[in-house]
This record gives sequence, C-alpha cells and structure tokens, in this order.
Amino acid sequence: MRTLGLIGGMSAESTSVYYQTINRLVRERLGGLHSAELVLWSLDFAPLAELQSKDDWDATALILVDAARRLESAGAQAILICANTMHLNAPQVQQAVAAPLIHIGDATAQALKARGVTKPLLLGTRFTMEKPFYAARLQAAGLSVLTPKQADRDRLHAIIYDELVVGVVSEASRAVVVEMIEQGRKAGADGVIFGCTEIGLLLDPATMLLPTVDTAIAHCEAAVDFALG
Ligand code: GLU
Repeated sequence: MRTLGLIGGMSAESTSVYYQTINRLVRERLGGLHSAELVLWSLDFAPLAELQSKDDWDATALILVDAARRLESAGAQAILICANTMHLNAPQVQQAVAAPLIHIGDATAQALKARGVTKPLLLGTRFTMEKPFYAARLQAAGLSVLTPKQADRDRLHAIIYDELVVGVVSEASRAVVVEMIEQGRKAGADGVIFGCTEIGLLLDPATMLLPTVDTAIAHCEAAVDFALG
C-alpha cells in the first residue's frame, strides 16, 4: 500500500470526513483489519482564511508548499490538498514536491462523467465559483460548468465560512442550498458538484434530485485508487 499525504485543516470539519472515508474505503476494498497508511498535516485555518479574504494567494501558496514538503519528508507518496479552494495553489504545490498531487478537480470530473453529467452546477466558495482555476480544470475535461447567480454565490460563501467550517449545520441553510440546486436545474444543469468539502455535511448527495458529486468523497476515492493501485 502506498502512503498518502493529506494537507488538512481547511477546514478541520471536512478533514475528519477525509480521514474516515479513506480508512473506510481501504477497509472495504481490502477487508479484515486493513486501514490506510497516511500522514496528515493539519493547518490552522484562521490565518489561511484571512489571507484568502485578502486575495493573497502567494502567501497561501507558501503555507501549502511548506506542508507538502513536510509530508513528503515524512514518507508521503502522493499529496492531497483536502479542499477545493486551495487548489488555486495546486500548481505551486506540485512544483515543490516529487510526489504526485491528486487533484480534486480531476477526481470530480471523473465522478461526474461516470454519472453521465455534462453540465454541472458548481457550488463552493466564491473563490471556487468565480475564479477560473476550478471551472477551467472541469472544462478541460469536457464539462460545461454553471454557477448560481451573484446573490446566491454570496449567500453560499457566507454559509460555508460562517457556519459549515465551524461545524454549524442549519435547516435554514439546507433549504437555501436545495433551492439553489432547483434554480440550477431550471437553468439547464444536469448534475451538481458539492465543490466545497463541507457541503456534504449539510446535504446528502444521494437525496438530491440531480446526480451529485461530493468532491470530498470523489477525492478520497481517487486517493484510495492511488494507494491500492
Ligand atoms: N473546504 C472548502 C473548500 O473545499 C472551503 C474552505 C477553504 O477555503 O479552504 O473549498
């Protein structure tokens, strides 16, 4: 089994999901008492979120590159950035280490295609929905990406940073996001991307009216494929 290196803490709420999911998948695939071999470097999210809000992506890159190097020195054979937003720094991270970076966008595109989705609605932070780094990756994989309208993007961004990353899951926010998905369906979306690793804490992808990919889970599946491949 290969050793995975996880850059976590973005947020700690979803890093728990990664740890549980990767270990569950390894156990399901190998049976018995098997579990994953992994190293986790969990960051303090507060300074990172502060830099994000200032659009200082050179500074966030330094933090992620440092974490990736530490993981590689500790034996990681692949690196995972356990968040969508921070894939904005994926090129710098990949350049800094020899171990491959398992990209969340690639894992997501693969999972969408397996479900026959061609025009997904992308839900995530404002950075993920509005900056080109994420949609471009999906478009390169042949998908056309829709996003909610401006007011809904702002609302979702606030739900993520004010609630989900601090472990608050509310009925009201659940209803808001379900309505955004309904609007996306009316606008022509044939699938949904939970493009923030905390959205799966709010909604179950299996109960959505459109085929839905939770990026945290798709990322873990790709990681376990690598570890056991
Ligand atoms: N975990 C989130 C994501 O997947 C949001 C928090 C962050 O900005 O890293 O984008």
